[in-house]
Order: sequence, then C-alpha cells, then structure tokens
Amino acid sequence: MNNKQPYPDHRKGANKPNPTRTYSQTRRPVRSKSEIARRIFMAKCIIFLGLVLVLGGGVYLLCRSGLFSKKTASPTEVVLSSLSSVTSEAETTPPEDTTPEVTETTVLPGDLSGYYVILDPGHGGWDRGTAYPYNSDQNEEPTYTIKIANLLSEELKSRGATVYVTRTDDEYYSLYYRIAETHLICMDIAKEKGILPFSEEREQDLREKLEEVKRINDNSYDKGGMGLMAGTGVGEDLKALFEMEYQLTDVVFISIHLNADYDESTHEPVDHHGIEVTYVTDDSVNTYESKESNRTAGAPVREAYNGRPNERNLMFCQTLYDYITKDTPNLKSNMDKPVYTANWAVTRKIGLTGTLLEFGFISHETDRTILQDEAALKVVCSSIGDSLAEYFSKI
Ligand SMILES: [Zn+2]
Repeated sequence: MNNKQPYPDHRKGANKPNPTRTYSQTRRPVRSKSEIARRIFMAKCIIFLGLVLVLGGGVYLLCRSGLFSKKTASPTEVVLSSLSSVTSEAETTPPEDTTPEVTETTVLPGDLSGYYVILDPGHGGWDRGTAYPYNSDQNEEPTYTIKIANLLSEELKSRGATVYVTRTDDEYYSLYYRIAETHLICMDIAKEKGILPFSEEREQDLREKLEEVKRINDNSYDKGGMGLMAGTGVGEDLKALFEMEYQLTDVVFISIHLNADYDESTHEPVDHHGIEVTYVTDDSVNTYESKESNRTAGAPVREAYNGRPNERNLMFCQTLYDYITKDTPNLKSNMDKPVYTANWAVTRKIGLTGTLLEFGFISHETDRTILQDEAALKVVCSSIGDSLAEYFSKI
C-alpha cells in the first residue's frame, strides 16, 4: 500500500459521478447573457448579408437581360435582335400566320438559269468578212467574232444559261448551215421541254432535210445549199419550224459581226462608229422579198409569212443597245438609227427572237480600242447578260 495515495475530496464532491449527465451536455459551454446577445447580433448580420446577395444577384440578371442597358446596339446586334424578335413573334403567332417570308430559292439579279442562247460568230475559213486596214489580213472580222462568242458564252454560262455556238473553229460555215443548225438546236430544246409539235416521222424528215443543208455547206441555191429555206415567203416545212420556234420564248439567237466603213476611193476610214443592233419583222421581210432584185433565180416564190415575233425582236434589240451603251458609252452609235430592221438571211430564215449585232466599226479607232481590249469586251458581254435577263423578265 502506498501511504502517499491521496484521499478522495468529499468536501467539494468534485469526483462524485452524475448519473443523468449526457455527452453533449458535457460539451455545451455555459453561456452568459452577453454571449447570447453577441450571437443574436451575428445571426442578424448573416441574414442581412444573405439578403444583400439575393438582391444583388437579381439586379445582375436584369442588367444582363438589357432592361437597364442604354448602350447603342451594333449592326450585328440589331440583326440578332431582329432575328430574335422574329423568332419570338413566330413563337407567339398562331400557326396559320407563321408562313416564312423568305423563299428557299433566291434568284440573283441577272441570273439566266433555264434560258437558252444560240451564238453565231460570223464568217470564218475563206470568208474573212471585213478588216482594218482596208482589205488587209490584220484585224479580221472572224477572229473578233469568235473571240466575242467565247467571252459571251463564258459570261452567259456563268449566269446559268445554256449556250450553243454555231462555229467554234476558223472554218467556213455557210449562212444556211448556220440557219439549219439553229433549227436543229430548237428542235432539240423543244423535244427536251416536251413541246416538239411533230410526229416521229415528221421530226425525222425535217432533221434529214436540215442535216443535208449542213452537209452541202454552200449558200448556192443551185447546189441545194438553201434546202427548205430557199425562195421567198415560207413553205410548209419552214412554217412548221417557225411556229415551233415562236413558242420558244426562253431561247434567243445572236449573230455576232463587226462593221467597217471606208471611203470608196481612198479606202481611208469614215467617221462611223458604235454598235448596231438589227432585227426583222414580217413587214421588213415581206417588203424585202417583194423586190425582184432580192429573189434568187429559180427559187420558189411563196406566200408572205406573218407570224414572226415582231414586238419581241424590237424590244430585245433595244434592250441590248441600251444596256451595252450604258456601260460602255464609247460604243454609242453616231449613226441616226442604231437599232433597225435589216433582212439578213440568218435572222430572216428563223422564227426565234433574234438579232444580228454589229459589235462596232473595226475601221474606227474608238471601237477598235474596245474590240482589242479583252477586259473591255468582258464588260460588253456582262452588259449583254444583264440585257438578256431584263428581256426574259418581260416576256
Ligand atoms: Zn460580218
């Protein structure tokens, strides 16, 4: 036994166990009145801070919505804003009023999709047309006509048009070859569109007659080079083709040529310049063919025809002249009447809307400068594209 073992202190009861005391009770501190007041104060502070946070968040969200914003909107924001307002209108408008205003296909200005153009670059081969200087082998017409046809073809195709060209090389093709080729192209287009007005036998018969003209490739009546186009007036075959072509309002024909004008004795250039756009009417052809001097010896003389697209031809040619000279004022003609009737075979013997267009006087320096400049020619071709779009929009 250890005498130094202390004795239990009974006086304060300090070591007396308390059977009802729990663990939590043992950990709970004893609070004074000042401590309680401090705790109440702290709780109020926490509630106050919470309210400040909630209100602050609300104000922030309202600012984000733009309700209180005075900032000027940028163009992008305007577009986005209008788009969102369209969306919200669409969402709130009844279904029957929600038809969209924007269509799926947008037609660009000057678009020529669905239209057909037949280009006929004049001359070629042994037929050198006109030139500058007079009667020289420089600046020859067929070189320019095929260059213009290539540039124009490129321009029109880029706008969606289907383009046919009667001559693509520097070989000779007679006038009647070109006309026969144009009729054959029109038959192909009519057939493709399902409006060819011939039986299979009739179609075959016409095709064979036209192919024969191409094979002969000569303007002579005696050699049979004119075929069903021979003579004055219009026979049964040509009338059938004319009537088919009258219905092809989405097809036009452009024969491409250059002018020249020289003094007869000196062969020096005369001051004429600018483009000339020529066309036919029933009246112009019938007057022309009524003259004995304009008849081919031995060829049939038939009844005059009165079914050409007279008004369309005039409107087409005037539109071409106006657009080309608006964009290239130097090609404005100094002649009295640059849009006029001229009874060339290639326009007289077809039933399409068409023109023989003289792209300027190679004999005149002003026109020659443009004809020798590819960039300037591209502007002219673009003007033609615009004028065709304008013409087709009015048909
Ligand atoms: Zn010519």
